[in-house]
Amino acid sequence: MLIHRSSVGWIIQAPAKLNLFFEVLGRRGDGYHEIETLMVPIGLYDTLLFEEDSSGQILFECRGNSRESRSQDNIAALGQSPAVLPANRENLVVRAVDLFRRRAGVRRGARVRLIKRIPIAGGLGGGSSDAAAALVAANEGWQLGWPRSELRSLAAELGSDVPFFLADGPAVCRGRGERIVPATIAGNAAFVVVYPPEGLSTAAVYKHCRPASNPRPIEPILESAGRGDWSLVGRLLFNRLQPAARELSVWIRRLEETVSRQDCWGHGMSGSGTCYFALCRHMRHARRVARRLQATGIGKAYAVRASR
Ligand code: ATP
Repeated sequence: MLIHRSSVGWIIQAPAKLNLFFEVLGRRGDGYHEIETLMVPIGLYDTLLFEEDSSGQILFECRGNSRESRSQDNIAALGQSPAVLPANRENLVVRAVDLFRRRAGVRRGARVRLIKRIPIAGGLGGGSSDAAAALVAANEGWQLGWPRSELRSLAAELGSDVPFFLADGPAVCRGRGERIVPATIAGNAAFVVVYPPEGLSTAAVYKHCRPASNPRPIEPILESAGRGDWSLVGRLLFNRLQPAARELSVWIRRLEETVSRQDCWGHGMSGSGTCYFALCRHMRHARRVARRLQATGIGKAYAVRASR
Protein backbone atom coordinates (compact mmCIF):
# COMPACT_ATOMS: atom_id res chain seq x y z
CA MET A 1 0.00 0.00 0.00
CA LEU A 2 1.48 3.36 -1.00
CA ILE A 3 0.45 6.41 1.00
CA HIS A 4 0.92 10.08 -0.01
CA ARG A 5 -0.27 13.28 1.53
CA SER A 6 -1.63 15.88 -0.90
CA SER A 7 -2.69 19.49 -0.28
CA VAL A 8 -6.30 18.37 0.26
CA GLY A 9 -5.99 14.97 1.90
CA TRP A 10 -4.58 11.48 1.60
CA ILE A 11 -4.00 9.38 -1.49
CA ILE A 12 -3.59 5.62 -1.06
CA GLN A 13 -2.69 3.11 -3.76
CA ALA A 14 -4.38 -0.18 -2.77
CA PRO A 15 -2.80 -3.23 -4.47
CA ALA A 16 -4.36 -6.44 -5.75
CA LYS A 17 -2.94 -9.83 -4.63
CA LEU A 18 -2.22 -13.23 -6.10
CA ASN A 19 -2.37 -16.53 -4.23
CA LEU A 20 0.69 -18.54 -5.27
CA PHE A 21 -0.38 -21.41 -3.03
CA PHE A 22 -3.85 -22.11 -1.63
CA GLU A 23 -4.69 -25.17 0.47
CA VAL A 24 -8.08 -25.82 2.10
CA LEU A 25 -7.49 -27.77 5.30
CA GLY A 26 -11.09 -28.27 6.40
CA ARG A 27 -14.54 -26.87 7.03
CA ARG A 28 -15.08 -25.17 10.39
CA GLY A 29 -18.11 -25.14 12.64
CA ASP A 30 -18.63 -21.39 12.03
CA GLY A 31 -19.13 -21.88 8.27
CA TYR A 32 -15.65 -20.67 7.30
CA HIS A 33 -12.88 -22.88 5.93
CA GLU A 34 -9.47 -23.36 7.50
CA ILE A 35 -6.95 -22.33 4.85
CA GLU A 36 -3.21 -21.94 4.31
CA THR A 37 -2.16 -19.58 1.54
CA LEU A 38 0.85 -17.64 0.27
CA MET A 39 -0.35 -14.21 -0.85
CA VAL A 40 1.71 -11.64 -2.72
CA PRO A 41 0.66 -8.04 -3.46
CA ILE A 42 1.06 -7.07 -7.12
CA GLY A 43 1.48 -3.85 -9.06
CA LEU A 44 -2.17 -3.40 -10.01
CA TYR A 45 -3.85 -0.73 -7.88
CA ASP A 46 -7.10 0.96 -6.96
CA THR A 47 -6.66 4.57 -5.80
CA LEU A 48 -8.40 5.93 -2.73
CA LEU A 49 -8.61 9.66 -1.99
CA PHE A 50 -9.63 10.75 1.49
CA GLU A 51 -10.42 14.32 2.60
CA GLU A 52 -11.99 15.45 5.82
CA ASP A 53 -15.44 16.98 5.17
CA SER A 54 -17.19 19.58 7.30
CA SER A 55 -20.64 18.07 6.61
CA GLY A 56 -20.01 15.41 9.26
CA GLN A 57 -21.17 12.82 6.72
CA ILE A 58 -19.33 10.13 4.78
CA LEU A 59 -19.60 11.09 1.12
CA PHE A 60 -18.53 8.37 -1.32
CA GLU A 61 -17.89 8.41 -5.06
CA CYS A 62 -16.49 5.71 -7.25
CA ARG A 63 -15.36 5.47 -10.84
CA GLY A 64 -13.51 2.87 -12.84
CA ASN A 65 -13.74 0.41 -15.67
CA SER A 66 -13.78 -2.92 -13.89
CA ARG A 67 -17.26 -3.92 -14.95
CA GLU A 68 -16.87 -3.44 -18.66
CA SER A 69 -15.79 -6.97 -19.57
CA ARG A 70 -17.92 -8.82 -17.02
CA SER A 71 -20.96 -10.77 -18.20
CA GLN A 72 -23.65 -10.28 -15.57
CA ASP A 73 -25.90 -12.87 -17.23
CA ASN A 74 -23.58 -15.77 -16.52
CA ILE A 75 -23.21 -14.93 -12.87
CA ALA A 76 -26.96 -14.57 -12.47
CA ALA A 77 -27.43 -17.95 -14.20
CA LEU A 78 -25.34 -19.60 -11.48
CA GLY A 79 -27.63 -18.09 -8.85
CA GLN A 80 -24.90 -15.78 -7.59
CA SER A 81 -24.90 -12.07 -6.99
CA PRO A 82 -23.66 -10.08 -9.96
CA ALA A 83 -20.19 -8.56 -9.71
CA VAL A 84 -21.42 -5.01 -9.54
CA LEU A 85 -19.46 -2.56 -7.49
CA PRO A 86 -21.77 -1.17 -4.80
CA ALA A 87 -21.85 2.62 -4.96
CA ASN A 88 -23.30 3.08 -1.48
CA ARG A 89 -23.07 1.83 2.11
CA GLU A 90 -22.52 -1.72 0.87
CA ASN A 91 -19.15 -0.72 -0.56
CA LEU A 92 -16.35 -2.03 1.64
CA VAL A 93 -14.74 1.41 1.66
CA VAL A 94 -17.82 2.99 3.24
CA ARG A 95 -18.24 0.06 5.63
CA ALA A 96 -14.60 0.43 6.74
CA VAL A 97 -14.77 4.20 7.32
CA ASP A 98 -18.12 3.86 9.05
CA LEU A 99 -16.92 1.05 11.36
CA PHE A 100 -13.78 3.01 12.28
CA ARG A 101 -15.80 6.17 12.95
CA ARG A 102 -18.14 4.31 15.33
CA ARG A 103 -15.32 2.50 17.17
CA ALA A 104 -13.21 5.64 17.52
CA GLY A 105 -16.24 7.73 18.55
CA VAL A 106 -15.51 10.28 15.81
CA ARG A 107 -18.17 12.67 14.52
CA ARG A 108 -16.11 14.15 11.71
CA GLY A 109 -17.08 13.66 8.10
CA ALA A 110 -15.10 12.57 5.07
CA ARG A 111 -15.25 12.71 1.31
CA VAL A 112 -13.86 9.46 -0.07
CA ARG A 113 -13.25 8.78 -3.75
CA LEU A 114 -12.32 5.40 -5.19
CA ILE A 115 -10.79 4.91 -8.62
CA LYS A 116 -11.37 1.24 -9.39
CA ARG A 117 -8.88 -0.62 -11.60
CA ILE A 118 -8.68 -4.05 -9.93
CA PRO A 119 -11.12 -6.51 -11.57
CA ILE A 120 -14.13 -7.19 -9.33
CA ALA A 121 -14.94 -10.65 -7.94
CA GLY A 122 -11.90 -12.14 -9.67
CA GLY A 123 -10.00 -13.49 -6.65
CA LEU A 124 -7.61 -10.52 -6.62
CA GLY A 125 -8.84 -9.15 -3.28
CA GLY A 126 -9.67 -5.65 -4.54
CA GLY A 127 -12.53 -5.00 -2.13
CA SER A 128 -10.43 -6.14 0.85
CA SER A 129 -7.51 -3.98 -0.24
CA ASP A 130 -9.81 -0.96 -0.60
CA ALA A 131 -11.15 -1.61 2.91
CA ALA A 132 -7.62 -1.77 4.38
CA ALA A 133 -6.71 1.43 2.50
CA ALA A 134 -9.83 3.15 3.86
CA LEU A 135 -8.86 2.26 7.46
CA VAL A 136 -5.35 3.64 6.96
CA ALA A 137 -6.67 6.77 5.22
CA ALA A 138 -9.22 7.49 7.96
CA ASN A 139 -6.58 6.96 10.65
CA GLU A 140 -4.30 9.52 8.96
CA GLY A 141 -7.01 11.90 7.72
CA TRP A 142 -8.75 12.19 11.09
CA GLN A 143 -5.39 12.05 12.92
CA LEU A 144 -6.56 9.24 15.19
CA GLY A 145 -3.12 7.71 15.74
CA TRP A 146 -4.31 4.10 16.09
CA PRO A 147 -1.41 1.61 15.85
CA ARG A 148 -1.62 -0.97 13.04
CA SER A 149 -2.18 -3.71 15.65
CA GLU A 150 -5.51 -2.07 16.64
CA LEU A 151 -6.52 -1.44 13.04
CA ARG A 152 -6.00 -5.18 12.47
CA SER A 153 -8.96 -6.18 14.65
CA LEU A 154 -11.24 -3.81 12.70
CA ALA A 155 -9.80 -5.25 9.49
CA ALA A 156 -10.64 -8.84 10.52
CA GLU A 157 -14.26 -7.79 11.17
CA LEU A 158 -14.54 -6.40 7.65
CA GLY A 159 -13.28 -9.51 5.84
CA SER A 160 -10.84 -12.41 5.99
CA ASP A 161 -8.36 -10.88 3.50
CA VAL A 162 -8.41 -7.32 4.91
CA PRO A 163 -5.68 -7.94 7.59
CA PHE A 164 -3.32 -9.20 4.85
CA PHE A 165 -3.53 -5.86 3.03
CA LEU A 166 -2.85 -3.96 6.27
CA ALA A 167 0.28 -6.09 6.82
CA ASP A 168 1.63 -4.66 3.55
CA GLY A 169 3.80 -7.33 1.95
CA PRO A 170 3.92 -11.02 0.98
CA ALA A 171 2.57 -13.26 3.74
CA VAL A 172 1.39 -16.72 4.67
CA CYS A 173 -2.22 -16.43 5.82
CA ARG A 174 -3.89 -19.10 7.94
CA GLY A 175 -7.11 -19.57 9.91
CA ARG A 176 -9.84 -18.11 7.67
CA GLY A 177 -7.07 -15.92 6.20
CA GLU A 178 -6.73 -13.42 9.06
CA ARG A 179 -3.70 -15.00 10.82
CA ILE A 180 -0.74 -13.43 9.03
CA VAL A 181 2.95 -14.32 9.06
CA PRO A 182 5.07 -12.07 6.80
CA ALA A 183 7.00 -13.98 4.12
CA THR A 184 10.18 -13.05 2.31
CA ILE A 185 10.32 -13.22 -1.46
CA ALA A 186 13.52 -12.53 -3.38
CA GLY A 187 14.25 -11.32 -6.91
CA ASN A 188 11.78 -9.79 -9.33
CA ALA A 189 8.76 -11.90 -10.14
CA ALA A 190 6.71 -10.93 -13.20
CA PHE A 191 3.19 -12.17 -13.88
CA VAL A 192 0.40 -11.93 -16.39
CA VAL A 193 -3.05 -11.82 -14.83
CA VAL A 194 -6.07 -12.59 -17.01
CA TYR A 195 -9.61 -11.51 -16.12
CA PRO A 196 -12.07 -13.57 -18.19
CA PRO A 197 -15.56 -12.33 -19.10
CA GLU A 198 -17.29 -14.33 -16.36
CA GLY A 199 -16.90 -14.32 -12.58
CA LEU A 200 -17.61 -16.66 -9.69
CA SER A 201 -18.71 -15.88 -6.17
CA THR A 202 -16.26 -16.90 -3.45
CA ALA A 203 -19.04 -18.58 -1.45
CA ALA A 204 -20.13 -20.77 -4.40
CA VAL A 205 -16.56 -21.96 -5.04
CA TYR A 206 -15.99 -22.88 -1.39
CA LYS A 207 -19.29 -24.75 -1.36
CA HIS A 208 -18.11 -26.95 -4.23
CA CYS A 209 -14.58 -27.42 -2.89
CA ARG A 210 -13.48 -30.69 -1.28
CA PRO A 211 -11.00 -29.92 1.52
CA ALA A 212 -7.68 -31.80 1.35
CA SER A 213 -7.56 -35.29 2.85
CA ASN A 214 -3.79 -35.15 2.53
CA PRO A 215 -2.84 -31.43 2.61
CA ARG A 216 0.06 -30.20 0.52
CA PRO A 217 2.88 -28.56 2.46
CA ILE A 218 3.47 -24.85 1.84
CA GLU A 219 7.19 -24.99 2.76
CA PRO A 220 8.64 -25.94 -0.68
CA ILE A 221 7.09 -22.93 -2.47
CA LEU A 222 7.89 -20.62 0.45
CA GLU A 223 11.55 -21.66 0.39
CA SER A 224 11.80 -21.29 -3.41
CA ALA A 225 10.20 -17.82 -3.36
CA GLY A 226 12.49 -16.86 -0.47
CA ARG A 227 15.53 -17.83 -2.57
CA GLY A 228 14.12 -16.12 -5.68
CA ASP A 229 14.02 -19.43 -7.57
CA TRP A 230 10.97 -18.44 -9.63
CA SER A 231 11.24 -21.24 -12.19
CA LEU A 232 10.79 -23.70 -9.30
CA VAL A 233 7.99 -21.55 -7.82
CA GLY A 234 6.28 -21.93 -11.22
CA ARG A 235 6.24 -25.72 -10.82
CA LEU A 236 4.95 -25.50 -7.23
CA LEU A 237 1.98 -23.15 -7.84
CA PHE A 238 -1.13 -24.77 -6.36
CA ASN A 239 -4.76 -23.89 -5.69
CA ARG A 240 -7.15 -26.39 -4.05
CA LEU A 241 -10.14 -24.25 -5.16
CA GLN A 242 -9.30 -24.62 -8.86
CA PRO A 243 -11.15 -27.94 -9.50
CA ALA A 244 -14.30 -26.51 -7.85
CA ALA A 245 -14.04 -23.32 -9.94
CA ARG A 246 -13.53 -25.48 -13.06
CA GLU A 247 -16.85 -27.24 -12.35
CA LEU A 248 -18.64 -23.90 -12.06
CA SER A 249 -17.16 -21.91 -14.94
CA VAL A 250 -16.07 -23.06 -18.40
CA TRP A 251 -13.57 -20.19 -18.39
CA ILE A 252 -11.22 -21.92 -15.97
CA ARG A 253 -10.53 -24.83 -18.36
CA ARG A 254 -10.26 -22.39 -21.28
CA LEU A 255 -7.73 -20.37 -19.31
CA GLU A 256 -5.76 -23.48 -18.27
CA GLU A 257 -5.54 -24.60 -21.89
CA THR A 258 -4.76 -21.20 -23.42
CA VAL A 259 -2.24 -20.13 -20.78
CA SER A 260 -0.44 -23.51 -20.77
CA ARG A 261 0.37 -22.97 -24.48
CA GLN A 262 2.48 -19.92 -23.50
CA ASP A 263 6.09 -20.45 -22.65
CA CYS A 264 5.85 -19.58 -18.91
CA TRP A 265 7.28 -21.01 -15.70
CA GLY A 266 3.87 -21.94 -14.35
CA HIS A 267 0.25 -20.87 -14.12
CA GLY A 268 -2.73 -21.07 -11.80
CA MET A 269 -5.90 -19.47 -10.50
CA SER A 270 -5.87 -16.71 -7.88
CA GLY A 271 -8.08 -17.18 -4.79
CA SER A 272 -11.55 -18.36 -5.76
CA GLY A 273 -11.10 -17.19 -9.36
CA THR A 274 -11.86 -16.53 -12.02
CA CYS A 275 -8.66 -14.51 -12.53
CA TYR A 276 -5.86 -16.72 -13.79
CA PHE A 277 -2.14 -15.92 -13.84
CA ALA A 278 1.08 -17.01 -15.52
CA LEU A 279 4.52 -16.67 -13.96
CA CYS A 280 6.88 -15.17 -16.56
CA ARG A 281 10.67 -14.96 -16.89
CA HIS A 282 10.81 -11.16 -16.63
CA MET A 283 8.67 -8.09 -17.21
CA ARG A 284 9.35 -7.88 -20.96
CA HIS A 285 8.27 -11.51 -21.29
CA ALA A 286 5.13 -10.75 -19.22
CA ARG A 287 4.19 -7.83 -21.51
CA ARG A 288 4.64 -10.04 -24.57
CA VAL A 289 2.53 -12.86 -23.09
CA ALA A 290 -0.15 -10.36 -22.00
CA ARG A 291 -0.44 -9.02 -25.57
CA ARG A 292 -0.69 -12.54 -26.98
CA LEU A 293 -3.29 -13.68 -24.44
CA GLN A 294 -5.42 -10.58 -24.86
CA ALA A 295 -5.38 -11.11 -28.64
CA THR A 296 -6.96 -14.59 -28.16
CA GLY A 297 -10.08 -12.95 -26.64
CA ILE A 298 -9.75 -14.93 -23.40
CA GLY A 299 -10.04 -11.80 -21.28
CA LYS A 300 -8.31 -8.63 -20.18
CA ALA A 301 -4.60 -9.30 -19.54
CA TYR A 302 -2.32 -7.30 -17.22
CA ALA A 303 1.49 -7.60 -16.96
CA VAL A 304 2.45 -6.92 -13.33
CA ARG A 305 5.30 -7.28 -10.86
CA ALA A 306 5.07 -8.81 -7.39
CA SER A 307 5.63 -6.23 -4.64
CA ARG A 308 7.93 -7.02 -1.74
P1 ATP B 1 -13.21 -12.19 -2.16
O1 ATP B 1 -12.43 -13.42 -2.52
O2 ATP B 1 -12.74 -11.50 -0.92
O3 ATP B 1 -14.70 -12.36 -2.25
P2 ATP B 1 -12.58 -11.06 -4.75
O4 ATP B 1 -11.18 -10.66 -4.91
O5 ATP B 1 -13.01 -12.29 -5.48
O6 ATP B 1 -12.87 -11.10 -3.23
P3 ATP B 1 -13.67 -8.39 -4.81
O7 ATP B 1 -13.36 -7.62 -6.03
O8 ATP B 1 -12.99 -8.03 -3.57
O9 ATP B 1 -13.53 -9.92 -5.17
O10 ATP B 1 -15.26 -8.28 -4.61
C1 ATP B 1 -16.08 -9.17 -3.92
C2 ATP B 1 -17.48 -8.56 -3.82
O11 ATP B 1 -17.42 -7.48 -2.89
C3 ATP B 1 -17.99 -7.96 -5.12
O12 ATP B 1 -18.96 -8.82 -5.68
C4 ATP B 1 -18.57 -6.61 -4.77
O13 ATP B 1 -19.96 -6.53 -4.99
C5 ATP B 1 -18.29 -6.40 -3.28
N1 ATP B 1 -17.56 -5.13 -3.00
C6 ATP B 1 -17.85 -4.25 -2.04
N2 ATP B 1 -17.00 -3.22 -2.04
C7 ATP B 1 -16.11 -3.45 -3.01
C8 ATP B 1 -14.97 -2.73 -3.50
N3 ATP B 1 -14.56 -1.56 -2.97
N4 ATP B 1 -14.29 -3.27 -4.54
C9 ATP B 1 -14.69 -4.48 -5.07
N5 ATP B 1 -15.76 -5.16 -4.65
C10 ATP B 1 -16.47 -4.67 -3.63
